[in-house]
Amino acid sequence: MLPKKTPVPEAPFVPKKGKTPMLVRGMKDILPVDWPWWNLVFDKVISVAREFGFERIETPVVEENAMFVRSVGKDSDIVEKEMFAFTDRGGDAVALRPEGTAGVVRAYLEHGMMAMPQPIKLFYISPMFRYDRPQSGRYRQFWQFGFEILGDGHPVVDAEVIAIGATIYQELGIPVRVQVNSVGDAASRTAYLKVLLEYFKPRRTRLCEECKKRLIKNPMRILDCKEPDCQLLAQDAPPFLDHLSEPAKEHFVKVLEHLDDMDVPYDLNPRIVRGLDYYTHTAFEYTVADDIGVEKQQSALGGGGRYDGLVELFGGRPTPAIGFAGGIERTIMQLKARGIQPPAPLRPDVFIAQLGDAARKKSIKLFRELRSLGIRAAATFSKTSIKAQLESANRLRAPFTLILGQKELVDGTILIRDMESGIQEVVDFGKAVGEVKKRVQKTNGEKQLVNGDVVADIQE
Ligand code: AMP
Repeated sequence: MLPKKTPVPEAPFVPKKGKTPMLVRGMKDILPVDWPWWNLVFDKVISVAREFGFERIETPVVEENAMFVRSVGKDSDIVEKEMFAFTDRGGDAVALRPEGTAGVVRAYLEHGMMAMPQPIKLFYISPMFRYDRPQSGRYRQFWQFGFEILGDGHPVVDAEVIAIGATIYQELGIPVRVQVNSVGDAASRTAYLKVLLEYFKPRRTRLCEECKKRLIKNPMRILDCKEPDCQLLAQDAPPFLDHLSEPAKEHFVKVLEHLDDMDVPYDLNPRIVRGLDYYTHTAFEYTVADDIGVEKQQSALGGGGRYDGLVELFGGRPTPAIGFAGGIERTIMQLKARGIQPPAPLRPDVFIAQLGDAARKKSIKLFRELRSLGIRAAATFSKTSIKAQLESANRLRAPFTLILGQKELVDGTILIRDMESGIQEVVDFGKAVGEVKKRVQKTNGEKQLVNGDVVADIQE
């Protein structure tokens, strides 16, 4: 039941001295050391999205609770147990999004995208929230990248969407197989639910408590239960594929043909029914194809399916749609387990070290001038010891450092120190910029210079 509209009283804020705040259970920081891996995944997702003609969307973290109840299904694990749902100060029942599709469909309708030329192809990279039991590879805030195509029901689109995920994982170096199934259309579903009931009813006592309830509410969900006994029973359950209506079968066969055309490796897997109510026709999951010792549960990298009924459920006209989401933390776990290294962070082209107030002022001007030329300059202006500044330059792997001390200030010169050899050269301050340009050119290669200027690809 949805919470009633009652304003929440303001909690008194009592700061406690001396108690260090700690991460909330199930949450995780993404630290600077983690970012090279995150960027690797983000960059791959963005570049594949561009190649396949998708535009980025970001919907809010907070949405109406009722939207998720309606789309994900009130009997789903997500809505029953995992929603971060609460009443806001104005008395509205809201929730932190547990998945990305519902918000995208809301935005599609709210911004009149159905009136634009179809299909609409959108992707997102966003944090999701589920009050799950935290464990390795499972968090309460986690990130997903997701792709959605709205307004196109052709089976080739199912294959295209599946191929996008497969491309991302393969290009990242993670071998995946796609597990595919069809959960049919409304007619097939009604027929299949009957068959499932007939199969599970006499075996009811062997089901877990949760699945006993599912037997009444939605027996299809027993098929993706994680309990070993239920899985054993599910293995021998009659497959959906045998009960598809003719149009549903035809759609699915075409999807498989297109997957073959696109060289996407897949397995038919009758247990892929997905936990969410809105799926129709094609349902799929990406699983890691080899065993490198990462826990089996974490080998499920992502999944999705066709959801032809959702736009209508949200009050729009019937609109076919399909999409998937991949978990970023699990992708990164795979990258790390495989020893796949992200590219080293960009190093600065030059470091500027200074000594004394006047030198600092002059260095700040020089820093700005170099940056305006597209040269990646680094500095730690707050430091007063040259030794400490050279340490910073080494840590950042700057190839050379400009040193402006008091003597150089008086002489109108500047020192250029090669950080590898330690050799220092004195040059006129007025020639410093030209000298830096020359060296950056040499270090980064001729290709980065156009009309004598350093161009964009060495900028931040
Ligand atoms: P789902 O939306 O449940 O199909 O999830 C798609 C993918 O998101 C999964 O295959 C996981 O990679 C990832 N995922 C789902 N739930 C979590 C979680 N609690 N923590 C981390 N990753 C998750």
